[in-house]
Amino acid sequence: MKSRRFVLTFSPEATGEPITYNLIKKFDIMVNIIRADVSPGKIGHLVMEMTAPAKVLKEGMEYIRQNNVECEPIDRKISYLKEKCIHCGACSAVCFAGALTMNPSTAELSFDPEKCVICELCLKSCPLSLFTIDIS
Ligand code: SF4
Ligand code: SF4
Repeated sequence: MKSRRFVLTFSPEATGEPITYNLIKKFDIMVNIIRADVSPGKIGHLVMEMTAPAKVLKEGMEYIRQNNVECEPIDRKISYLKEKCIHCGACSAVCFAGALTMNPSTAELSFDPEKCVICELCLKSCPLSLFTIDIS
C-alpha cells in the first residue's frame, strides 16, 4: 500500500462524474479529502490523499484524467525565508488556498503548508523573491 497526496484541478468542462465516489467504489482506493474548493461551472481544486497499491493508484490517476480533471501528485513543497519577510501581504492576496494568511492582530504572515496546493502563485508575487519550491 502506498499513500500519496494529489491536487485535482477541475475545469468547468469536467464531466461531472462522482470521481471520489468512484475511486472508492470501483478502484477500492482509500480517499482522504484534505481541502475542497469546487463549484459547478468554475475552476475548482481538491487536495486529497489516496492510499492503495501503486498500480491501483496509477489506474486511479488515469481515471481522473479521463474525466478532464488534472491530477498532479504533490511531490514538491513550498518554503520561504521567514526571517527576511516584510509582511507586505502580497503573497497572501494571491493564495486562494488559504495557506498564506495575514494575522489580523499582529499583521504578520502565517504559512500553513497543509493547505498549500502548489499553485506557485506566491513565487511570482513576492517582491523580495523569498519563496522557493523544493522537490522531495
Ligand atoms: S503555492 Fe503559494 S500561493 Fe499556491 S497554495 Fe501554496 S502557498 Fe498558496
Ligand atoms: S510577499 Fe514576500 S515579503 Fe510580502 S508577505 Fe509574502 S513572503 Fe513576506
